[in-house]
Amino acid sequence: MITLLPETLEDLWEIFHHQPDYKPMAGGTDLLVRMGVDKKQPPALVCLEKIHDLKTIKKTRDGIRIGSGVTLTELLKNDLIQENLPILHTAISTLGSPLIRNMGTLGGNICTASPAGDTLPALYLLGARVTLYSDRGNRILPLDEFIQGPGRTLLADKEILGSILIPPGDRFNVHHFEKVGQRKALAIAVVSLAALLKVHGGVVEEARLAWGSVGPTIVRSREAEKALEGRKLTLTTLNHAADLARSAVSPISDVRASADYRRRVAGNLLLRLAV
Ligand SMILES: Cc1cc2nc3c(=O)[nH]c(=O)nc-3n(C[C@H](O)[C@H](O)[C@H](O)COP(=O)(O)OP(=O)(O)OC[C@H]3O[C@@H](n4cnc5c(N)ncnc54)[C@H](O)[C@@H]3O)c2cc1C
Repeated sequence: MITLLPETLEDLWEIFHHQPDYKPMAGGTDLLVRMGVDKKQPPALVCLEKIHDLKTIKKTRDGIRIGSGVTLTELLKNDLIQENLPILHTAISTLGSPLIRNMGTLGGNICTASPAGDTLPALYLLGARVTLYSDRGNRILPLDEFIQGPGRTLLADKEILGSILIPPGDRFNVHHFEKVGQRKALAIAVVSLAALLKVHGGVVEEARLAWGSVGPTIVRSREAEKALEGRKLTLTTLNHAADLARSAVSPISDVRASADYRRRVAGNLLLRLAV
């Protein structure tokens, strides 16, 4: 297997042109594990880690733009993320271990398109959009359209995920992320919940809710969101929303948990929002 290390996007397009059977690699924390499990190697690995254009975090008029190659540790340490995107910050702090976060990137977490990807529920709620780069130009897609199913995205041939744009979410004053795993550290989510709420005078004015690991992609329930809007965050209100959430999710049973357990926990996690 050939391993290539381009330093610019121009070099990357050149490689794609001459080497049609390539696989892009960012941190390799998903890809190398997958290659070991499948016992299959692509003819060429193209490492993206040296491409500077993929490694910046910027505040623009449209929101915060994060290069796909920014590592999870860099995001955790970044002031813009800590101050403006606390729900994403919390989600990343639960992902893997320090070693995994040092290597793993936001772009890799997105392109893996796992329903258990920890950054995804927060990014869905924040209305993230992805910019896909190729030598044909760039195109922008909403993240929830880009991710099609487990391991499936709308990435086209010779295209990479370049950056992620997160519009300002400053109207929300409750930022909640919780992950239930089989143990406290280094656990893939059995169920996770991200919630963004705008609460004024004790009443929920706007609610956004998203669950991970309970369907082929991240699940949002507009019915559960509507059940909170215009109401106080009491256990009665939340129990009603939790029932709606349990109907909205479509979990599977696997080695980590049964579908029934996941469905119950998906609802129960909402009760944590009670004040
Ligand atoms: C021990 C361990 C624990 C883990 N725990 C968690 C966890 O708790 N939560 C969680 O969500 N994940 C977890 N993971 C999975 C993984 O670490 C994350 O998904 C990480 O964010 C992947 O990023 P990466 O840069 O390493 O991706 P890579 O492995 O480099 O790539 C993953 C996939 O994305 C593609 N890709 C990467 N970047 C691009 C790009 N810019 N454009 C196009 N395609 C691209 C690759 O071709 C590959 O198909 C864990 C992994 C391990 C090994």
